[in-house]
Amino acid sequence: KQPLVEIKNLKKYFPIRKGMFKKTVGHVKAVDGLDFTIFKGETLGLVGESGCGKSTTGRTILQLLSPTEGEVLYEGKNLLDMKGAEMRKLRKDLQMVFQDPYASLDPRLTVGELIAEPLQIHQLYQGKERDRRVDELLQVVGLHSYHAKRYAHEFSGGQRQRIGIARALALNPKLIVADEPVSALDVSIQSQVINLLQDLQEQFELTYLFIAHDLSVVKHISDRVGVMYLGRIVELADKNDLYDSPMHPYTKALLSAVPVPNPLIKKERIVLQGDVPSPANPPSGCTFHPRCSECMDICRTEKPAFQEVNGRYVACHLYS
Ligand code: SF4
Ligand code: MG
Repeated sequence: KQPLVEIKNLKKYFPIRKGMFKKTVGHVKAVDGLDFTIFKGETLGLVGESGCGKSTTGRTILQLLSPTEGEVLYEGKNLLDMKGAEMRKLRKDLQMVFQDPYASLDPRLTVGELIAEPLQIHQLYQGKERDRRVDELLQVVGLHSYHAKRYAHEFSGGQRQRIGIARALALNPKLIVADEPVSALDVSIQSQVINLLQDLQEQFELTYLFIAHDLSVVKHISDRVGVMYLGRIVELADKNDLYDSPMHPYTKALLSAVPVPNPLIKKERIVLQGDVPSPANPPSGCTFHPRCSECMDICRTEKPAFQEVNGRYVACHLYS
């Protein structure tokens, strides 16, 4: 397995400003120290409750947000050092599929224009060639040539997400960060879009960072899964290891809330105490400690390292 993207101690803090002079009074620690690798050709799922920093992670990796600290290496090179031609190539290699196919498509453009837009920006293909490329992309995502003349609002949610995917594919990317790509869709449509993403991955040798709060969707598509809590990854493992034998108490609680298809399998639901604390004022030590049923003294004062345990990664004092 070859690394495509290596994330090292990545942090993204947003200032909290107050008063007439917009004085900075604190920071929201949306992403607070991530270390992980995305391997070529894999789908790495990222799960967690809303507000845990999943989207910020995706955007910071793609450099849509600049990191407060840390590094993102793409094929061994630091993205922050890239300029000019190198940066333009990079912009093609790294693409995003957004959660809301309604909001992310300009209503004034036809579908053909929407898909041609990235080609235009990067000055790829001209005239008839560009039309042919747009046509090809429509076919690839399961739409038709005649759809090019229509507007996004004439399409269903699932079709709009196909348009969003065609746009992301236009520049032959290597990595696609898909941020809750099916969360806004009906359950019946979700699997169609997931299947499409899987087909495209095989066809174009894509690597995915797949962000979602729905554990079953993530399980279906991912090779490995990372669980986020308050801006950190608390556990990262092969999908089956993680779902069959979770190590971190937070992962255990999340999974205990997923309904099992077989009613004969009795599963004890672990109910988490309290709400997710604010990322502006995270708890000391292990940020999960106020809600953890296995909390020990050390958990209140010392932040557990994110470390390898039997080929998996976990940040919890129970394993150190
Ligand atoms: Fe619970 Fe302590 Fe592990 Fe945090 S470090 S998850 S508080 S046992
Ligand atoms: Mg989000």
